[in-house]
Formats: sequence, structure tokens, C-alpha cells
Amino acid sequence: MDLLEYQGKQLFARHGLKVSDGKAVTTVQDAVSAANEIGYPVVVKAQVLIGGRGKAGGVKLAADEAEARKHSGDILGMDIHGHTVRTLWIEHASEIATEYYASVLLDRSAKQPLIMFSVEGGVDIEEVAENTPEKLIRHHVDALDGLSREEAVKIASDGKADADVIEGVADALVALYEVWLAEDATLAEINPLIVTPEREVKALDSKVSLDDNALYRHPENQALSDSENEDPIERRAKEQGVQYVKLDGDIGILGNGAGLVMSTLDVVAQAGGRPANFLDAGGGSDAAKIKQAVELILENDAVKAVLFNIFGGITRCDEVAKGLIAAFEEIGVGGVRIPFVVRLDGTNDVAGRELLQEAALPNVHAARTMNEAAEKVVALAKEQA
Ligand code: GDP
Ligand code: MN
Repeated sequence: MDLLEYQGKQLFARHGLKVSDGKAVTTVQDAVSAANEIGYPVVVKAQVLIGGRGKAGGVKLAADEAEARKHSGDILGMDIHGHTVRTLWIEHASEIATEYYASVLLDRSAKQPLIMFSVEGGVDIEEVAENTPEKLIRHHVDALDGLSREEAVKIASDGKADADVIEGVADALVALYEVWLAEDATLAEINPLIVTPEREVKALDSKVSLDDNALYRHPENQALSDSENEDPIERRAKEQGVQYVKLDGDIGILGNGAGLVMSTLDVVAQAGGRPANFLDAGGGSDAAKIKQAVELILENDAVKAVLFNIFGGITRCDEVAKGLIAAFEEIGVGGVRIPFVVRLDGTNDVAGRELLQEAALPNVHAARTMNEAAEKVVALAKEQA
């Protein structure tokens, strides 16, 4: 679960990381009152789950009420790389002497937490990693010992933080590591971590992802889920208890069981196609569940053709066929404008195929094997493009 900047900053504050006070608002009027209350200059910041807001015009300084009103009006409703701005964070503007970078994440290949620090902050850290890797300090932490203060000081000095703020940076690193560990985050990033002219070290931005599987340990974090900013189809799938992940291709994928869906993605890619989603209808999928799954897939306008790959075990292929027929009936045959390729194999597959044949749904194509199904669906999607 990704957090908005201001939510991440709330976690930061909980663990003693310095952040500016501010207020989250959703209207221009509330933004202006918040700014008046906080005191000028303020910074008006779009709250969306995507980086690069500054460059896109989603972060603006306001020196007075008129500017606060103008910037709030401009930024609310703005589209930032496909994300509509519905919430603003207004905070007292900081003076910046220097911008650093700091993050903690799990390095899966090293099986250890990884702390990164750089004095080249405020810019795209991937660029720093690529062009001046010597300026990005990477330090693995022993997960059992945790991050000691001495280690943090060494990271700050190895990274060539200004001498007078080594202690402040070390404090920030220790606090950031604590956020990552105590909140069960998968990523905790500060870019920029600033030094003010008064030489205070402070988090000006936050990027925090929490581990969904550990959310049950943090009841206070469960409410942070920002359903407004979630993909609407993914949100509906979650409500219906269906495993759905949106991808950026044009071939809708539906299977039962995560393993089968993953191999379906692979064969479609091998056949030269690009999957539009991962959708696992689960074991024991009955007709109602299949219908929901079909509707979810069709909600994505990018989908040009659908591959329906079912291996019957507990799931019975005749039930799946009934679900598909019911879905087509309900949506209306005219509503389903795109071709479906169906492969049914396993329990009751013969009965399932017979049902489909009797129903004679227009634009439904049967395939006997997974490879044949993949090739067919890729060809059909190309025809639609
Ligand atoms: P991002 O573009 O999505 O990463 O958003 P950030 O929160 O990192 O803001 C982008 C940039 O705006 C920062 O790198 C700063 O240069 C600038 N900025 C943000 N907040 C302030 C502030 O309080 N004062 C000043 N002077 N600049 C700010
Ligand atoms: Mn940033």
C-alpha cells in the first residue's frame, strides 16, 4: 500500500523525524484558510501516488493569500501523469540550504535492509545512481542488530554530508530506519532531506509503501488506504475478493489459480502479445464469480481481446461455461464488443465446451491448448487494434 506524502510524513513524525506542520485539504477555500492559519510563505502540494509532482507543476510556493488561492485552484483537479489531484497538502514553506536523499528498503537479493544516502538530493535518484554512483552510499544493515548510531554517522560522513550536520543526518537515518522497521514498510524514502539555513535537518517529501500483509499488525494504518487514488477496477476487485492486477497491455487475462494465470501471462507474451491484467478467479470459481471477473476485465477500455484459461480441478468447467454465458446474457451480447478465446481443460471440460457450443455466443472462440489459445488471442487483438 502506497501512502500519500502527507500520510508518510505523519509516520515520520511518529518516529521523531522532523517535518513541517501542515494540513490536508480538498477545496480551495479550505486550502486558503489552512494557509492563513499556518502563516506565509506556504507550499501547496498535490497529493498523488506518483513522483515528479514538482516538475509537473504540482508543487508551488505561495507568498500570500492571493497566491495560495491561485495555486490551490490550479493544482486541484490537475492531472499528474494520469493521477487526478483531489487532495492538497499545505505546509509552511521551508528555506533550503541543501537537498540530500535518504531511503530504506529491503534488498531482496542481499536478503538485508538497504539504506541509501546521497548529498545529491531533490533530483531523480536513478540518475545519480547511473551517472555518479560514487555519490550514492549504499549500506546494508544487519536485520537482527538494527542500525546503530555509529553506523548512521559513518553513512553520513562517507556520503560527505556537511560536517556540521553529520549528527542531524545520522538522527534522520536512525529515525527513517525505525519508520521502515516499526511500521512494516517496504520502502521509506525522503527526497529531498533538506538542511535549512539554521542547519536543521528535515524531511521535505516522503515516499512510503507499507507491506499489505503486515497491515493487520497496524490497525492505526489501515485507514490510510487511499481508495480514491487507487485504480477503480483494482478497488472493485478487492471489494469482491478477486485477485486483480492491472497491467499496461491490451489482452485481458482470466484464469483460475495464480500459477495458471502467471503461465498464461508468459505464453501470451511469448506469442507476441501484451497482457492487460492479471486476474485470478480463484479455486472453486462458480458461475457468479466468473461473471464478476468478466465484468471487471471489460471495464478496462484498453482490452482488445480476452483469454479465458481455465484448468478444472475443484473448479468445474461446466460451471465456468455457465458463468461466461450468464455474463454475456447480462451484459448483453451487443455490449461485449471484443473477442474471447476460451480454453477449458480438466474437470467436466467436455460438458463445459458443449454448453458453450450450444450457447453459440458470437465472438467466442474455443482453443484446445494454451499455446493455441495464446496465438489466437494475440491475432484477434491485433485485428481489433
Ligand atoms: P516531488 O517533485 O513529487 O518529488 O515533490 P517534492 O515534495 O520533492 O517537491 C519538489 C521540489 O519542490 C523540492 O525538491 C524542492 O526543491 C521544492 N520544494 C518543496 N517544498 C518546498 C519548500 O517548503 N520550500 C522550498 N523553497 N522549496 C520547496
Ligand atoms: Mn520529492
